[in-house]
Amino acid sequence: MKVTVIGSWGGYPKKNGASSGYLLEHNGFQLLIDCGSGVLAKLQNIIQPEELDAVLLSHYHPDHIADIGVLQHARLIQGFLGKNFPSLVIYGHHFDQAEFTKLSFKEVTKGKAYIPNEILTVGPFQVSFLKTSHPVPCYAMRIVADGKVVVYTADSSFKEEFIEFSKNADLLLCECNFYGYQNGKSSGHMNSIEAGKLAQQAAVKQLILTHLPHYGDLSDLVSEASKEYSGPIRLAVESLAISL
Ligand code: ZN
Repeated sequence: MKVTVIGSWGGYPKKNGASSGYLLEHNGFQLLIDCGSGVLAKLQNIIQPEELDAVLLSHYHPDHIADIGVLQHARLIQGFLGKNFPSLVIYGHHFDQAEFTKLSFKEVTKGKAYIPNEILTVGPFQVSFLKTSHPVPCYAMRIVADGKVVVYTADSSFKEEFIEFSKNADLLLCECNFYGYQNGKSSGHMNSIEAGKLAQQAAVKQLILTHLPHYGDLSDLVSEASKEYSGPIRLAVESLAISL
């Protein structure tokens, strides 16, 4: 399985950047997890929008879905230009009906609801979900392909259930919207210390910090998390690719 960071800013994209978006590839199947602002432009450095096989969304905050509309336009226009590809399935939860409805667009994309307490099969990936602690319904994902495991926390303040959910993952993609001196609980986010603690207690093989803040020295996030977690830690930066 190959994981490529498309965008990693929390809340909104920093200048020339992108907010949440991660491309997972296995056996030629291209799955985009979240599709925030700036993701469509950045994705094209890796693959073309019409090459995506599926999209999976954690929740409906703009920094995770802002580019769904332009992704639909891209597929529509490439279809007009004569390219042939199937309707794109976009998986999202159905606890916000207005947002879920927007996932379907003409014959271009088709919204499908995942059932959070059931395993979702998408191409070669098996995905299980955990409801996070966030101001709107949001789901973390444990994604398995050929025995390799990626856990993506999506947006959440720390919750104990993450430890079991993330157990022994090959890669933990953990949101880290706050520095160690800040408390993200009321806004539904984690800080660097909590990300490190989660990685350590879940005994994951590596930690990537993402959903990053727009201020401060980001390397402090790594050094703070490393006080809790003894494994390798990196910041999610655009185009970072990890093969598992
Ligand atoms: Zn959010």
